[in-house]
Amino acid sequence: MDKQSRMELRKKAGYRDLPEPVVKVQGPEYSMSFACFNCKTSNMRHFNVPPCDYPKTMKCPICKSTTVNLGRHFKPPKKSDVAQWKKVKFLAEHGFVFQKIRTDSSSYDSVPYPDTLSEAKEFVVKYKKWAWEPTL
Ligand SMILES: [Zn+2]
Repeated sequence: MDKQSRMELRKKAGYRDLPEPVVKVQGPEYSMSFACFNCKTSNMRHFNVPPCDYPKTMKCPICKSTTVNLGRHFKPPKKSDVAQWKKVKFLAEHGFVFQKIRTDSSSYDSVPYPDTLSEAKEFVVKYKKWAWEPTL
C-alpha cells in the first residue's frame, strides 16, 4: 500500500484529528552522596530532577545509623582518612553539607570548602549566615 492510500484510510478511520502522543520527557538525574560518619562510607543515590524531593538523610545500609545527603559534589575521603571524615562530620553538624556558598550575588563563584578541621572551625563561624538547618 502506498503512502497516499494509507493516509486516506487513516482519514476514514478518523485518526486525522487525534493529537500526537504525548512523550514524557524525563528530567535530568541527580546523583547524590549520602555519607555515613559511623562507618565512613558514602552511598550514591539517584533522583530525578524535578521534583527535587530528595531526602536530607537516609538510613545507612551497613550500620543503620543516619547518613547525610552531601549533594552532588561530595567526594568521600578514604575510609582510613579519619581527619578528613572528622572535618566533613564537623561541617555537617554545623549545617554545611557542601551546598554552594555565594557571598557575591552578582557572581557564580562559590566559596571553597575548607581542607582541614581547623580551617573548618573558622569556616563555620565566618559563613554562619549560609548554614542550613543541621540534619545530624
Ligand atoms: Zn554506616
